[in-house]
Amino acid sequence: MEQDKLHEECGVFGLWSVPDAAAVTALGLHALQHRGQEASGIVTFDGARFHSHKGMGLVGDNFGDAKVIASLPGSHSVGHNRYATTGDTVLRNVQPLYADFEFGGLAVAHNGNLTNAHTLRRALVRRGCLFQSTTDTEVFIHLIAISLYSTVVDRLIDALKQVVGAYSIIALSNESLMGVRDPLGVRPLILGKINRSAEGGRLGNSWVLASETCALDIVGAEFVRDVEPGEIIVINDQGVHSIKPFGRQQERFCVFEYIYFARPDSVVEGMPVYEARKRIGAELARESGVPADMVVPVPDSGVPAAMGYAAESGIPFEFGIIRNHYVGRTFIEPTEHIRNLGVKLKHSANRAILEGKRVVLVDDSIVRGTTSKKIVEMMRQAGAAEVHMRISSPPTTHSCFYGIDTPERGKLLAARHDVHEMAKLIGADTLAFVSLGGLYRALGKPSRDPAQPHYCDACFTGDYPIPLPDTSEDVGRHLSYLVEEH
Ligand code: 5GP
Ligand code: MG
Repeated sequence: MEQDKLHEECGVFGLWSVPDAAAVTALGLHALQHRGQEASGIVTFDGARFHSHKGMGLVGDNFGDAKVIASLPGSHSVGHNRYATTGDTVLRNVQPLYADFEFGGLAVAHNGNLTNAHTLRRALVRRGCLFQSTTDTEVFIHLIAISLYSTVVDRLIDALKQVVGAYSIIALSNESLMGVRDPLGVRPLILGKINRSAEGGRLGNSWVLASETCALDIVGAEFVRDVEPGEIIVINDQGVHSIKPFGRQQERFCVFEYIYFARPDSVVEGMPVYEARKRIGAELARESGVPADMVVPVPDSGVPAAMGYAAESGIPFEFGIIRNHYVGRTFIEPTEHIRNLGVKLKHSANRAILEGKRVVLVDDSIVRGTTSKKIVEMMRQAGAAEVHMRISSPPTTHSCFYGIDTPERGKLLAARHDVHEMAKLIGADTLAFVSLGGLYRALGKPSRDPAQPHYCDACFTGDYPIPLPDTSEDVGRHLSYLVEEH
């Protein structure tokens, strides 16, 4: 059994008072598919009972069948996409998690990572809580279950006060749909509204919670606002209520959402992700321009930054690499060997335009360096005269413990090598990363204030705003001794 892992990247989506909630939720999850491709699930509430369906694979695999959607009646829902990490990819960990309480049912979907989950879990097990999964989401469920408060919202607040971490949560009870962002607002969550005047029904009371705004467009909802860091939104038939039990804190939104994770058509904290990526690319061109014949993006993640680089430098933008869209993401493959193979399956050189050309390659990040090495080699094999790699993020020198799936530090290329060595290792003529200051400027901040950085940029700085995971206390122990077939 591989090491137990509590952490996962995810997409969450929820509806209050929307007819055919399951079908609409499947659409929302489909728009959030980039946030997780490993498994998906939907729980609905029909006013009396909850209904649940979960499965491994893509949203379309699990919810493409009309019979499945028909088995999920109700106009309130919560849904979840789970990202592939290693190890515990089993159905019992697929969200939303559901539990029965004396006040009714509760379904919880969670994006992010609780860093004190192991400690809490051990204390809960000692108290007699019987864990059914190994996800940290279940820690929430038990904390809510043992809380001495009576209402579900008070119990949720009680649970939130005990957890530490980066998380966005959507929870559905018999009475309300609840959305929470952690006190620093590391993970995203937004509120939207569906106007249903044409179809009748209760006017103005249809609400959406989602990880990103791209999930609003597909279901015909309008953007209302970002849920604030540390805010709990409670939605019921009376409307939307906001609770802020943590007081005000300096926010630290995950800057990597802008760089890579969010979909380019999403708007985060008022800034379109597409625009942000183009601006980072322009900054990169100003900081480390190089004479060249063309700017080539590493598709798809490098495309907007390459456009910004090309526009700023005046060098033509060309699709020198064509991506095959029918391959799963290479990043999620478990072994080095398969990952190497995967990169070749995914990208091909557009030979006809590359012969004898000086190429600026633009990608969003270098993690292990596998992608860059393969792509540079591919450019050379296609006859490129020079290959200059430009990266629209600073060097990834530290692991993320807050919900982005970076490998352990030893596997991060930039943790072990300086830029010069990295250029050699990936085989590029030159290599440059956008500076930290340049990244902040591109996002509309004059500079990075070390005392109060606006973003969580721990993967680039090692400045971790939330205590690190308590997993070290559990070395040599398993969270669960059950090995489940899947
Ligand atoms: P590397 O091959 O260096 O390990 O990974 C770099 C590539 O992975 C880049 O093309 C980048 O777009 C992508 N990438 C960076 N972070 C993530 C992530 O968290 N998840 C996935 N699936 N891909 C990532
Ligand atoms: Mg990429």
